[in-house]
Amino acid sequence: MNKRYRKTIIAGNWKMNMLSSEVKPFIEQLKENMTKSKTCDVVLCTPAVMIPAMVKAGKELKIAAGGQDVSKFEKGAYTGEISAAQLLDAGAKYCIVGHSERRQYHGEDDMLINAKAKVLLEKGICPIICVGESLEQREMDLTMEYVAYQVKAALNGIDASQVRRCVIAYEPIWAIGTGKTATAEQAEEVCEGIRAVIRRIYGARVARTVSILYGGSMNAKNAAELLAQPDIDGGLIGGASLKPADFATIVKATAEE
Ligand code: PEP
Repeated sequence: MNKRYRKTIIAGNWKMNMLSSEVKPFIEQLKENMTKSKTCDVVLCTPAVMIPAMVKAGKELKIAAGGQDVSKFEKGAYTGEISAAQLLDAGAKYCIVGHSERRQYHGEDDMLINAKAKVLLEKGICPIICVGESLEQREMDLTMEYVAYQVKAALNGIDASQVRRCVIAYEPIWAIGTGKTATAEQAEEVCEGIRAVIRRIYGARVARTVSILYGGSMNAKNAAELLAQPDIDGGLIGGASLKPADFATIVKATAEE
């Protein structure tokens, strides 16, 4: 399917790493390795407290700041939570929802992830909705059924105009932080399947506009091959997004597509 209808996005997920004081030096090192990308949108999803520092430091390279989670509630007595309005206020343009680490350690389910995607869309923040199967599910040949279910549940009640602003990240759990990357064929097969799910719900014209990322041990060496796949429109990158030279190489690999 033609990639010209959708954005290529390279998004880093810093997880619970780094300090605000390290943001500017990180961007300085990035500048030594890359210029403003003409071939993709670059996003760094930092801990929420670092979003303002990222907005400031990332301007020259046109790096957008993103959050890693959001509350489903609008405001009020929810100690420790961060609202979509607060993320917007801090300068976030994107926010990850449903990362497998949130599903695993915080018991997040698909209904909650759907609610979180909706509050982000209401505030004009692009949700990066993570889906992906466990190793057991892959071994039982349940990958596509399970991922299709996650996508449908996450998009429940989201209309066609809103889904164009959603990003789906296919992240097989067995590949996250393990150094085991899905092969380009495995990743493409599921990303193509995700687009087929979106096509069945919203039609082909909408499906071709939704960016689908691959995540799971994407690095400077394997990025080009993964990004060359017809239904992989970018990457969600954990470990390698903490290394400026590697992250820059991944961004530059979008030019080779
Ligand atoms: C992630 O955390 O979303 C991720 C893909 O991590 P890693 O690149 O380290 O596997």
